[in-house]
Amino acid sequence: MIAPGYQPGEALGAMLPDHPLLVVDLGGQVIGWSAGAERVCGYQAGQIVGRSFATCYAPDEPRGRLRDEIEEALRSGYAEGEGWMLRPDGGRVWVRRTLAPLRDLGQQVHGIAVMLCDLTTRRRAELDLREREERFREMVEGTAGGFFYSMDDQGRFRYLSPSVRDVLGYTADELVGRPLDLVARPEEREPPGDAPSALDRPRAGRALRVVRKDGEIVHLEVVENAPQGTGSVGYARDVSRQKELEEQLTHTALHDPLTGLPNRALFWDRLRHATRLAERAPERQFAVLMLDLDRFKAVNDTLGHLAGDQLLLGVARRLERCVRPGDTVSRFGGDEFAILLDGIRDASDATRVARRITRALGEPFRLGREYAFGLGSIGIALSHTPHERPEELVRFADLAMYRAKALGRGRHEVFDHRMRAGIDARLQLERDLPRALERGEFRVEYQPILSVKTGGLWGFEALARWHHPVRGLVSPAEFIPLAEQTGEMIAIDLYVLREACRQLQGWQARHPGTSINMSVNLSGEHLLRHDLAEQVRDLLREHGLPALSLRLEVNESVLAERADASRQVLQQLHGLDVHLQVDDFGTGRTPLRSLQQVPVRALKLDPSLVTRNGDGAGLMEAMVKVAHSLDMSVVAEGVETQEQMDRVRLLQVDYAQGYLLSEPLTAEMAERVIARGLPVN
Ligand code: C2E
Ligand code: CA
Ligand code: CA
Repeated sequence: MIAPGYQPGEALGAMLPDHPLLVVDLGGQVIGWSAGAERVCGYQAGQIVGRSFATCYAPDEPRGRLRDEIEEALRSGYAEGEGWMLRPDGGRVWVRRTLAPLRDLGQQVHGIAVMLCDLTTRRRAELDLREREERFREMVEGTAGGFFYSMDDQGRFRYLSPSVRDVLGYTADELVGRPLDLVARPEEREPPGDAPSALDRPRAGRALRVVRKDGEIVHLEVVENAPQGTGSVGYARDVSRQKELEEQLTHTALHDPLTGLPNRALFWDRLRHATRLAERAPERQFAVLMLDLDRFKAVNDTLGHLAGDQLLLGVARRLERCVRPGDTVSRFGGDEFAILLDGIRDASDATRVARRITRALGEPFRLGREYAFGLGSIGIALSHTPHERPEELVRFADLAMYRAKALGRGRHEVFDHRMRAGIDARLQLERDLPRALERGEFRVEYQPILSVKTGGLWGFEALARWHHPVRGLVSPAEFIPLAEQTGEMIAIDLYVLREACRQLQGWQARHPGTSINMSVNLSGEHLLRHDLAEQVRDLLREHGLPALSLRLEVNESVLAERADASRQVLQQLHGLDVHLQVDDFGTGRTPLRSLQQVPVRALKLDPSLVTRNGDGAGLMEAMVKVAHSLDMSVVAEGVETQEQMDRVRLLQVDYAQGYLLSEPLTAEMAERVIARGLPVN
């Protein structure tokens, strides 16, 4: 109870020293100030009494605040306000002020009591929380590449953060109340039976493909928390970019980097798939084609790897054009391609494709300034061929491909179980070949070459023979393709060359006065050996042979393909006076005139020309004329009948070789021919 005339401010301050209490007059001036008020506001009574209490308010508080509070207190007998107050030391306190008018017994108001409550700690915590909320909100609503959502228990969106728009193209409003199905691709929608259980537990990193408003596919990764019965909340992140990278990686893992074609792994996969389909529908057939380029190594060696890569690329593109969209063209590595023809009717469908491929690859490939042929050998295995595992079909096609290679280049063969025996033998030979030379299993036979004009012995062609301990005599036609693949060919050639030189030396020593020429075959690889000329020179010296007695035969196609790369070696040989002759001439497409660029001294006409009637004769006549005009001599090979011999003579071919005249002979038999003293040209 307050007595009239009493100084309420002082009295209050004195009565309740610990309470943060002060008294202002109706104008807001401080008239009473307790020690508690000093603790809260920092001012001592002497500093603040007589001044407006608004002095304590933080400057950012709205002006007139105190006045409003006083008026409110006078009006309703009570007022409350909260706000920052600034202490004289600069510190800020958040204070709740409770104002109540002080009346005397006559109900006269002569002051306002203000109770302070320091709520700074709570306020700070509040602000902190709000700040965190704010940051969270920013995070949620501003998250690029993802959005938060909540769903009701029916799977309909209840809330979506605004960033959903960046991800899905829809605004949050457009999606709220709609089910996820609106955007999910049909195959992503969960079967109805699964839905409840799927909502039971949090699922980490579920992948989902959805359709953006603009129709594009977006890959989402969804982390969802779905307590039973309450719907779910989750965060969906756009992982399309990662998906794309992943897909690129998968693509890389399943494709050949050079050609972009499916690789072996993907081919196996497609093959197994085709097998499964064929098992379900037995009338459905497919075929596996294996293709091996015939002269890839030559291109790689002579024109360089870049050109080799270019050729492979060119071949890949042509192969793709030879098959239907559902078929698989795959590169197994190197120059080996595998093709899966799915859904064919019968073998003829497969052989037709093989012919198409052969035709397509038969057109020259332009590699920079050079041209190359991509001719390949193709093996075909049909799905109806009895087999145990799909992989076997690839092996079968491979075997058929080797068969095709052995029969001549640029052809195809369909696998048949009878091939197996031959193939196993081939594999055996391939295993035995590397040791054959050191084991002394090679011999050289000599086929006489006669002068057409005189009928006398002009020389011999040295031909390699392999006496296999089990197989017996193995024909060069069989082992040379193997040797070329295994890299034995150079060693074999050198063996034949050395042996032929040795024989020639012996023959000449034992049969003085005879002049015998020796033709030796060189494989394509040899022309790239820069030491070839040197080796030849050393051999000639070692055996005391005139260079002119040695003829080196190089296959036409090899010469055409390697003209540039082998030019240096050919010139060196030419410089030694060793004559070069083009073997199997007329089988390729080499224009005769182009041979002028290499120092060639003779042409060996291919037997196919010699045995051909009709246009063959015309062709041969033209070739002989051109060759003679270029100062080259002509050898007719494969002369088997008197009729052919007559034609050869008529066309003024210079030399002849063939079974009619003599088969290849052992060294002893050849020496007997020399000894018989046939007239020698
Ligand atoms: P080529 O150089 O064209 O050799 C001629 C081939 O025709 C020889 O086959 C020979 O026996 C055969 N021949 C001879 N006269 C006749 C005939 O009247 N009719 C028929 N149908 N054929 C006849 P061969 O000895 O089986 O050699 C096959 C091929 O192997 C050779 O063809 C040659 O390209 C290659 N070759 C043989 N020995 C060597 C060698 O030492 N080094 C290299 N690089 N290749 C060789
Ligand atoms: Ca030859
Ligand atoms: Ca020949």
